[in-house]
Amino acid sequence: MLIDLRNLLSGTKEEISVSAELEMNVFKYAVAEYDIIAKKPVELLITRIGKNKLHITGNGYVALSIPCDRCLEPVQTDICFDIDREIDIKEDSGMVEDDEEKDYIDGYNLDVDKLVFGEIFLLIPGKTLCKEDCKGLCLKCGANLNQGECGCDRASLDPRMSVFKDILNNFKEV
Ligand SMILES: [Zn+2]
Ligand SMILES: [Zn+2]
Repeated sequence: MLIDLRNLLSGTKEEISVSAELEMNVFKYAVAEYDIIAKKPVELLITRIGKNKLHITGNGYVALSIPCDRCLEPVQTDICFDIDREIDIKEDSGMVEDDEEKDYIDGYNLDVDKLVFGEIFLLIPGKTLCKEDCKGLCLKCGANLNQGECGCDRASLDPRMSVFKDILNNFKEV
């Protein structure tokens, strides 16, 4: 959703509050692509704080479906975000004044989806697990080990484990 900022910039209005629907249904960045499985409208308050200067505050919520790092099962990841930004818009061109990249300003419009994208991006967890003790997938057959033991001999796949087994065997022999 685009919000027209011209009334604010011209001084006709001092502030506008908007409840903005998010258009995006998927959160994509680099190679990752997460479905947005729940969302609330973004509540925004945009205030004129000076000539061509605006202050944007607000908050919102999305839930992403992110695969578990170990077993790949989708995990609902709730993200609540707060927005607090100041922008400075050039009079003639509608371009943003400083060097900082603010791609959410498009001419004299605020692009809510792009603004929110930046906020979500900062809050994506570095690690996602379906549960703390997720057992992951069998490296041999790919079975989800949370659903039961598949019967593969996985010890032989992990060299660290075999060293450990040797030590155990040595103990037994003593
Ligand atoms: Zn898992
Ligand atoms: Zn297996």
